[in-house]
Amino acid sequence: MSDAAPPEPAPIRAGFCAIVGLPNVGKSTLLNRILGQRLVAVSPKPQTTRNRILAVHTIDLPDDVEPPRKAQIAFVDTPGIQQGSGALRRYMRDEALAAAGDTDVALLMIDATDSRGRGPDRLHSEDAAPLAAALRSKPLIIALNKVDRVAKPDLLPLIERWHGWGKERPEHDLEIVPIAALSGDGVGRLVAAIGRRLPEGPALFPEDMVTDRAERFLAGELIREQLFHQLGNELPYAAGVVVETFEERAAKKDVQIGAVIVVERDSQKAIVVGKGGARIKQLGIAAREALSELLGCPVHLNLFVKVIPDWSRGERGIRQLGYEPSKGGMP
Ligand code: GDP
Ligand code: MG
Repeated sequence: MSDAAPPEPAPIRAGFCAIVGLPNVGKSTLLNRILGQRLVAVSPKPQTTRNRILAVHTIDLPDDVEPPRKAQIAFVDTPGIQQGSGALRRYMRDEALAAAGDTDVALLMIDATDSRGRGPDRLHSEDAAPLAAALRSKPLIIALNKVDRVAKPDLLPLIERWHGWGKERPEHDLEIVPIAALSGDGVGRLVAAIGRRLPEGPALFPEDMVTDRAERFLAGELIREQLFHQLGNELPYAAGVVVETFEERAAKKDVQIGAVIVVERDSQKAIVVGKGGARIKQLGIAAREALSELLGCPVHLNLFVKVIPDWSRGERGIRQLGYEPSKGGMP
């Protein structure tokens, strides 16, 4: 008998980072820069789930960081934040605020060229919501973006003002990082600032997440998005999506996807399927178009609906179906 224990998985830091900031500050540019891929293209869509994962990125941290020096950052979007009034929007905003507070780190992006973004003392009222969201998190990174377009003599005072602002908030673990997301300047320091603040724990996703597995995962997200987009009011949070098959067919240069929409009751299934199957057909068409755009090739999508009573309350509840790796359809 061998007494060799199975190798321990290498320790890693892993967690969620909420990105908040007004439109146009450069959030998508940053993620594209970090990932070097176009996966972020899926983001400018309505918020459908509380923590919407944009990207997963695994990095090696610099030597001055306490081990473990590998970190997996799952970037989540909080797009409900700058919406206007109305009950649903308020609800979305509350969810987005809660999402920011739920994450391990918040990243507030500021456009340093925007006169409104020039300093904490000169913020406009519309900055209040992103700022409030970011402040829900104790570890807080402020990225001053587009510094390539800020004159050198202006930059240091700007950073200083934010430092002063931070000193008045000692309860936060704050780091201010000037970056140019477009060129990548400072982005390495930024991801390290996020990564070093993540708790030690098991990796949340496979390390090669930002590959075809990510696409498979995002396929589920896109279908879920269509589901909530088209049925949101009728089916709040009772439906989940599992991608069961994801097959790239090299010969045909297309992708075949089989996905199951899981609901809790027959009545919900009837809603999803619709009269004579009209609803699910519509859903399939919209999801297929979005998937095809994401993957950059034709997509064949087989959608089914399955009833699993109380799945969202079960042990394998909504988190597992939605976001945690499992044998089902997750990467
Ligand atoms: P989002 O709405 O926050 O996702 O912002 P986008 O990523 O779409 O960026 C908005 C605009 O700012 C785009 O035209 C980008 O090219 C530009 N931008 C983003 N980062 C930088 C930067 O570091 N420097 C400059 N000069 N422009 C940037
Ligand atoms: Mg964007």
